[in-house]
Amino acid sequence: TVFDFGGRRALVTGAGKGIGREIAALLATCGAEVVAVSRSADDLTRLQRETGCLPVVADLETVEGVQQAVRAAGAIDLLVNNAGIALLEPFLEATPEAFDRTMAVNVRAALLLGQAVARDLITRSSPGAIVNVSSQSSMVGLPNHAAYCASKGALDQLTRVMAIELGPHRIRVNAVNPTVTLTPMGQRAWSDPARSAPMLARIPLGRFAEPLDVAQAVAYLLSDAAAMINGVTLPVDGGFLTS
Ligand code: NDP
Repeated sequence: TVFDFGGRRALVTGAGKGIGREIAALLATCGAEVVAVSRSADDLTRLQRETGCLPVVADLETVEGVQQAVRAAGAIDLLVNNAGIALLEPFLEATPEAFDRTMAVNVRAALLLGQAVARDLITRSSPGAIVNVSSQSSMVGLPNHAAYCASKGALDQLTRVMAIELGPHRIRVNAVNPTVTLTPMGQRAWSDPARSAPMLARIPLGRFAEPLDVAQAVAYLLSDAAAMINGVTLPVDGGFLTS
């Protein structure tokens, strides 16, 4: 493998499906001890059987759920805030419930987990790295994605502030910003060709992302190969954002 995470312990949220599952599996292949946090226990049992990742079932939508995950995880060197939800609603029908849930999972959980991991790293005088899984939709508007786009814009800004405040402690914080990725979430939102065709037409590489495309970018940002990279929001979008 390209990256060596031997002796390092990683926490990946939303590791049961899609992009998070691919990230957890890749980090484990590269030698990390991986704590896999997600909501559905059976997804994590399967992941453990196939990759050796340690399962932690928690609902990151609540503060208590985040605290439970932190307690179960132990000392973490590498954190990937990947868990996210997309509750699509036309703007005129957007509800406070969907907005609050989206912000809680996509932004607040990343803040609280980042805080807990960083405090522990600082106590141990140990370097670390954090990657937040944002989206191209932090930088462009998409119809029906009001809460989602707002949450990813917020996550990019959270990434920058964390990078500035944690950099002096040798903790790097970056984000990846994927285009449409073929996961359960991606298939839900984009399986209709009438919706996917115009999006595909704006991606110069002519395809959507695979979970592995995103996982490899995350692994790079976590690795020492990215030792001087801090505070970036890295598109994994085949050129969508420049088109
Ligand atoms: P999926 O819906 O396919 O998988 C999400 C995973 O996160 C599931 O394992 C899910 O568990 C878990 N999860 C969701 N909510 C919670 C919660 N409250 N507590 C704990 N775990 C939770 O999503 P993707 O893999 O597609 O997305 C992963 C990340 O990538 C998200 O942040 C998303 O916004 C981002 N992204 C996705 C894109 C795409 O097109 N797919 C494009 C750009 C960014 P369970 O199924 O049990 O609820």
